[in-house]
Amino acid sequence: MSDREAHVVAQVNKMLFLGGKWRESSSGSTFPVEDPSTRKVLCEVANASEDDAMEALEIADRTQPEWAKTSPRERSEILHRGYRLLMDHQEELAILMTLEMGKPLAEAKGEIAYAAEFFRWFSEEAVRIEGGFSTSPDGKSRFLIMRQPVGPSMLITPWNFPMAMGTRKIGPAIAAGCTMILKPAQQTPLSALALANILTEAGLPEGVLSVLPTTDAGGITEPLLTDGRIRKVSFTGSTAVGRKLLEQSAGQVLRTSMELGGNAPFIVFDDADLDAAVDGAMLAKMRNIGEACTAANRIYAQSGIAEEFSRRLSERMGALRSGRGLDDDVEVGPLIDEKALRKVQELVDDAVERGANVLVGGGPGEGPGHFYQPTVLANVPFAAELSTTEIFGPVAPVMPFDTEEEVVQAANDTEYGLVSYLYTQDLNRAFRVSEALEAGMVGLNQGVVSNPAAPFGGVKHSGLGREGGRVGVEEFLNTKYVGIGGLS
Ligand code: NAP
Repeated sequence: MSDREAHVVAQVNKMLFLGGKWRESSSGSTFPVEDPSTRKVLCEVANASEDDAMEALEIADRTQPEWAKTSPRERSEILHRGYRLLMDHQEELAILMTLEMGKPLAEAKGEIAYAAEFFRWFSEEAVRIEGGFSTSPDGKSRFLIMRQPVGPSMLITPWNFPMAMGTRKIGPAIAAGCTMILKPAQQTPLSALALANILTEAGLPEGVLSVLPTTDAGGITEPLLTDGRIRKVSFTGSTAVGRKLLEQSAGQVLRTSMELGGNAPFIVFDDADLDAAVDGAMLAKMRNIGEACTAANRIYAQSGIAEEFSRRLSERMGALRSGRGLDDDVEVGPLIDEKALRKVQELVDDAVERGANVLVGGGPGEGPGHFYQPTVLANVPFAAELSTTEIFGPVAPVMPFDTEEEVVQAANDTEYGLVSYLYTQDLNRAFRVSEALEAGMVGLNQGVVSNPAAPFGGVKHSGLGREGGRVGVEEFLNTKYVGIGGLS
């Protein structure tokens, strides 16, 4: 680690953030955070216990009424200062993220900017939360519609976007006036702890936010979700864990937002602009080392262009420079851990056994970290396991198809429905296929859909609710209707 990197890690407060105060875990226990590109321990972080979680709950519950009374402008300005501070510290925060998660520094900087944009967007939304007033159809009463914060909220985030998944939830919760308990992923707690510092500097009142890193995710979240004082859970992560949290939320009938797994089809028709399609595929596949819920998981290329598309994609993938994300010019970092590396290799081996051809890559990369080579597989049969499983790595399986009907059916033949991509220059087809795809989002002639100003979310097993856009704040608001009678 360079002096600069060591300094960035040393700056982070590695304790629990309990309602504005930093302290050790009540059990005294800590856990190590590793750099996935070297497998070396970066530091130890306090390990929250159930007692700590219950204390955070007590604080969130106690603070909720006062926090709900703050003015929208005050909450907006906290968020705006948070946005500015994130951008002022973009470089150090990006180094920290690359150290704990592995993504190349340029991408980490991009994520800090993306994360900051959620604060900017919700600072603008905080002062535009609207209710309503109307006359009942029979004219006898009036309807007053109020919007109120849903209450103390549990936020659970994954490791793949350690900062943006936090701000995407904290932004609307602050805008709405909800107190929060954030449980970051155990592999990447440092970004979340740095974010707590930023929000303190931005003026977030004590008690509004707690951050609880832990190695016992279920052990601290289940008692919180089943207690009754938490009124909302917003989760980003795998579908399997999402299902569990939905079950746990049922007892107290919690509001839930679930941003779950994906299995995105990326469809290239014969009439597509092939250069644009290859650029789009590189983005949709390789953003975040392929470790994104929005990653192109199945690339369908129509038979007229399949060979040429695969050739060009392989050329681009083969030219990518892998390595430690903090080294110059690195474009592909390591996978998050050994388990992820093994899973990617197994999926590639299965596809090859079933007849796929490896055009480039196909095995682990060099170095001590969890590296996997950027890989393109051609002629992948529909029966290959990676057709139904999130790859979460730098592997692009290309599957040929003949007709529009056939590809739409194949694209929709999955339990997931987060995002689908399609490349075509035929306007009729563009609309027809966009409407037919079972997905919460469609990238039409573009390989990235994420934008804080747009409603992000999935259908089917990819989740419930939307984050970002005008609807993002709705997830943290209750609607109350006051019926006014006795009017003459
Ligand atoms: P994960 O295993 O589901 O973990 C996500 C979060 O849930 C982590 O903080 C994890 O804590 C926690 N968790 C695990 N088990 C839990 C339990 N029993 N109770 C409560 N919390 C629990 O997912 P991941 O591997 O970190 O992230 C990858 C997944 O996230 C992929 O499926 C990806 O598609 C999805 N994702 C979706 C979106 C979206 O917006 N739709 C965005 C990004 C990622 P620990 O770290 O301690 O295990």
